[in-house]
Amino acid sequence: MPAKPCIALIAHDQKKADMADFARQHQGALSRFRIVATGTTGGRVQEACPDLDVTRLKSGPLGGDQQIGAMIATGEVDMLIFFIDPLSALPHDVDVKALTRLATVYDIPMALNRATAEKLIDFQKD
Ligand code: PGA
Repeated sequence: MPAKPCIALIAHDQKKADMADFARQHQGALSRFRIVATGTTGGRVQEACPDLDVTRLKSGPLGGDQQIGAMIATGEVDMLIFFIDPLSALPHDVDVKALTRLATVYDIPMALNRATAEKLIDFQKD
């Protein structure tokens, strides 16, 4: 059986509850993926959906976003769902730029908000 594709999940600040809710709503589609997530986001997703296969990396501020960036560069991540919080202060800005750049370089589907993520995950249901 071929390995499951890998989806990376990251949610900043006030968007973590939104990510947990998204995972709960799309648990069926997400179960077709191996999931990697930054530490706190992964914890929230795992709590919401204990049956999903979630690997938690470091927390974002400690390098988790960059771990996901490295995985994109080595071809280990097939899709990125990144709920950025546009109402939070700038400290995350470098991570948003770095991951946007790498997802563009390696041409993987990337959602920065829930509406786009809903569309991407809908494609996975076929
Ligand atoms: P977290 O990391 O899921 O560990 O909070 C995301 C971030 O803040 O970059």
